[in-house]
Amino acid sequence: KILSLNDPSLLETRAYVDGAWVTASKTFDVRNPSTGDVIAQVSDLTAADTAKAIDAAYAAKADWAAQTGKERSAILRKWFDLIVENADDLATILTSEMGKPWAEARGEIMYGAGYIEWFAEEAKRIYGDTIPGHQRDKRIVVLKQPVGVVGSITPWNFPNAMIARKVAPALAVGCTFVARPAELTPLSALAMAVLAERAGIPAGVFNVIPSTDSAGVGQELCANEKVAKITFTGSTRVGKILMKQCSDTIKKMSLELGGNAPFIVFDDADIDAAVEGAMIAKFRNNGQTCVCANRIYVQSGVYDTFAEKLKAKTASLAIGDGFADGITTGPLINTAAKEKVEDHIQDAVSKGANVILGGKPSNLGGTFFEPTVLTGVTPDMKVSVEETFGPVAPLFKFEDEADVINMANDSEFGLAAYFYSRDLARVWRVSEALETGMVGVNTGLISTEVAPFGGIKQSGLGREGSKYGTEDFLEIKYVCMGEI
Ligand code: ADP
Repeated sequence: KILSLNDPSLLETRAYVDGAWVTASKTFDVRNPSTGDVIAQVSDLTAADTAKAIDAAYAAKADWAAQTGKERSAILRKWFDLIVENADDLATILTSEMGKPWAEARGEIMYGAGYIEWFAEEAKRIYGDTIPGHQRDKRIVVLKQPVGVVGSITPWNFPNAMIARKVAPALAVGCTFVARPAELTPLSALAMAVLAERAGIPAGVFNVIPSTDSAGVGQELCANEKVAKITFTGSTRVGKILMKQCSDTIKKMSLELGGNAPFIVFDDADIDAAVEGAMIAKFRNNGQTCVCANRIYVQSGVYDTFAEKLKAKTASLAIGDGFADGITTGPLINTAAKEKVEDHIQDAVSKGANVILGGKPSNLGGTFFEPTVLTGVTPDMKVSVEETFGPVAPLFKFEDEADVINMANDSEFGLAAYFYSRDLARVWRVSEALETGMVGVNTGLISTEVAPFGGIKQSGLGREGSKYGTEDFLEIKYVCMGEI
């Protein structure tokens, strides 16, 4: 155990199945992307192990669902309290496996905890309905019941929060849960399980399956008849595979898939505020979030000013090891991520874009990459159609509102969009016209547990967070009573 933790028992390398810590015959290495060092060797579970975890979750579901909302709420609240108490250690584990700056990792822990707190509260408020009968002797009641066993597959970019957003509503309404974290970042998920056990979450209700066999475990979760629902965050490519695999058993699905967020700066915007917003929307998590601004459209009258100011702010980012003081920007997750960023820059430059800042790997080596600003970007470039998932801000120029809305909507994705304007009528018009599930107006940061997060088009299905966030984990049952 090489990390410096107040509570070293949070660094768990075994799987958590049916309330027991399980060792597999094989292990896999988890590495720190800042240094390449191996920080842990984690049990590598199989599809057959996954089936056992599903059996455990299936066996646990009746008792968990039978608890009152208030009882489940109290346990989730305890879990939230423990996560907050241990936030520093959880942040250390997160930075060590994912690379983001420690302060940002701590922010993620608190953000994820916010979902557990929120849904602990919602657990008590799963209301049904009564409907006036359609005949004199009839009474109609609508019950909301948990869907049952939920299978979860999550990515590495938010190793804690992506799981928190899913497990909190699921457990709140009485579902049980089998989580398969990304193989690059299993330690944060296992640390959550350590605290779940301490909080008194019963055996089988929350299981964590670390595994390098993403396809095998995914297939088991999708095909197993005991799983009622799959909740996935990741690429649209894998989302499509899972959707196909789920069709045989008609599983319910929540999918948080890729985005290609437009960020629009109109002439009438507060330019300094727009620059601040763009910094957050573009460079948070080193550009590795599905709601990151991918295409920045700036109206011609303010294009040069915006480009200069964004360049100056971007130049002040501090790249380095996530544990070093004052760092704002960690490494990219792996070599493939770095190669994609380089490819997008090269493609843009070959088609006429200018690199006004960065544009190349950092001299720190590894997967560190210089935050980059490109001007003269046009729709024929890869940065326009594909998610870059890295620290590249491509600036497109536009003339009028109708054109920019067409360009913004010209995408198969529809997750987040952002725009800056001080004209109230335009704010309404553009908010309504953008084909995305979320719109940030005069802000670059929209994620919060109190609001519904999710996309339209090929960005996914369902919503996470807010009062709507429980619905994805509930079935509606209508009871018709006659002879009254
Ligand atoms: P990202 O680019 O964010 O890693 P992916 O969609 O590739 O997005 O991965 C998201 C999660 O899906 C990861 O945990 C990954 O291991 C998992 N995954 C990848 N391929 C499959 C698959 N065929 N079936 C199930 N899960 C998969």
